[in-house]
Amino acid sequence: MDLVSSEDDVSLRQVVADVGKKFDHEYFMARTKAGEPVTELWQALAELGFLGISLPEEYGGGGGTLWQLAIVAEELAAVGCPLQPLVYSQSIAGSILARYGTDEQKERWLRGLAAGTLKFSFALTESNSGSNSQGIATSARVEGGNYVLSGVKTFISGVDDADAILVVARTGTDERTNKGQLSLFIVDAHAPGLTRQPIPTALQAPDRQWTLFLEDVELGPDRLVGELHRGFRAVFDGLNPERVLGAAFSVGIGRYALDKASRYVKERAVWGVPIGTHQAVAHPMAQAKVELEAARLMLEKAARLYDAGLQAGESANMAKFLAAEASVHCLDSAIQVHGGNGFALEYGLTDMWWLARLLQVAPVSREMVLNFVAEHSLGLPKSY
Ligand SMILES: Cc1cc2nc3c(=O)[nH]c(=O)nc-3n(C[C@H](O)[C@H](O)[C@H](O)COP(=O)(O)OP(=O)(O)OC[C@H]3O[C@@H](n4cnc5c(N)ncnc54)[C@H](O)[C@@H]3O)c2cc1C
Repeated sequence: MDLVSSEDDVSLRQVVADVGKKFDHEYFMARTKAGEPVTELWQALAELGFLGISLPEEYGGGGGTLWQLAIVAEELAAVGCPLQPLVYSQSIAGSILARYGTDEQKERWLRGLAAGTLKFSFALTESNSGSNSQGIATSARVEGGNYVLSGVKTFISGVDDADAILVVARTGTDERTNKGQLSLFIVDAHAPGLTRQPIPTALQAPDRQWTLFLEDVELGPDRLVGELHRGFRAVFDGLNPERVLGAAFSVGIGRYALDKASRYVKERAVWGVPIGTHQAVAHPMAQAKVELEAARLMLEKAARLYDAGLQAGESANMAKFLAAEASVHCLDSAIQVHGGNGFALEYGLTDMWWLARLLQVAPVSREMVLNFVAEHSLGLPKSY
């Protein structure tokens, strides 16, 4: 891994940041208040080829890397536009379809994803199984050559703005381990039998969360992604890009917060000198910066390992963990050094709080990351 950024990476960062700044945090919050997606920003990114940057060229993508998609996500978050669909649509659905989709599926779905004309949601979580993904109850049974899906998914992001949903369903049970055999299906967002209910949350973001009710949703055989019963492998493969993108999202929020805080403490003076002169103000910011840079390095390592086709699970989990912690510390220290202004919405800090905090819980919680590291990196026994 070259620690000196390539000219291509530097210019990609610059172009993305320029697009992001044209729209900026005020635009992001205005769309959030209106309860509408960031369509104009999404279109601008699509026109520049950034939404398909990591997807295969033969389906209209840029043929680039996950690392480049991470740069796009980081730079947008760093200007106050953290776009969650980059995580669940471009990175999870995009990477799974690119690896496991049939030619026909890629033509039908991946091409639209790459062009930015199609958006996916990703539906794994269920209230009864939670972090235990293999314990899901949503089932897909075979009937006359078709699949019929039934079950309830919860906390599914962006369904109202999605064209399709990549749904993880149970298609059998492994008799040896008693664990669910999972399969992946593409469900139209308006499929008959699919209904949804919003879940009000504290998040300040254009994408909302939904409970999805699947009642005998019938799908043709062309909607199965990858092999029947082997969906867990595909989901697992999609999780590394998800963790990398989640880390990029967090790093961007951390940069956004520290950038605002640094500018503020250099100007604000209440004892005749800028408050940044006081070490009690400077040190928490400096510590958060140290944590942020460590997270950035791990993020790049994870993305580059993934792009090289090497084992990226450990570093993707570590990057996700470090970045989520760092962004919360950056944002918290930024709010603190703003004093009362930290709570005023015009300073654009508290409205990012729940987005930063979310990444300590979703897409994978900090505890499940630590479980992974304990088991896979340290070789400790599994506790659950
Ligand atoms: C805003 C938002 C958006 C989301 N978007 C999506 C989406 O688009 N698609 C999707 O499928 N899901 C989505 N999720 C769901 C998210 O992935 C889950 O909330 C997350 O994986 C945790 O699952 P849970 O909420 O059921 O918590 P639980 O599994 O009930 O866990 C609760 C707590 O217990 C801890 N815990 C559980 N098991 C263990 C263990 N073995 N060891 C140690 N600690 C443990 C957890 O870390 C957590 O802190 C979203 C969630 C939110 C809040």
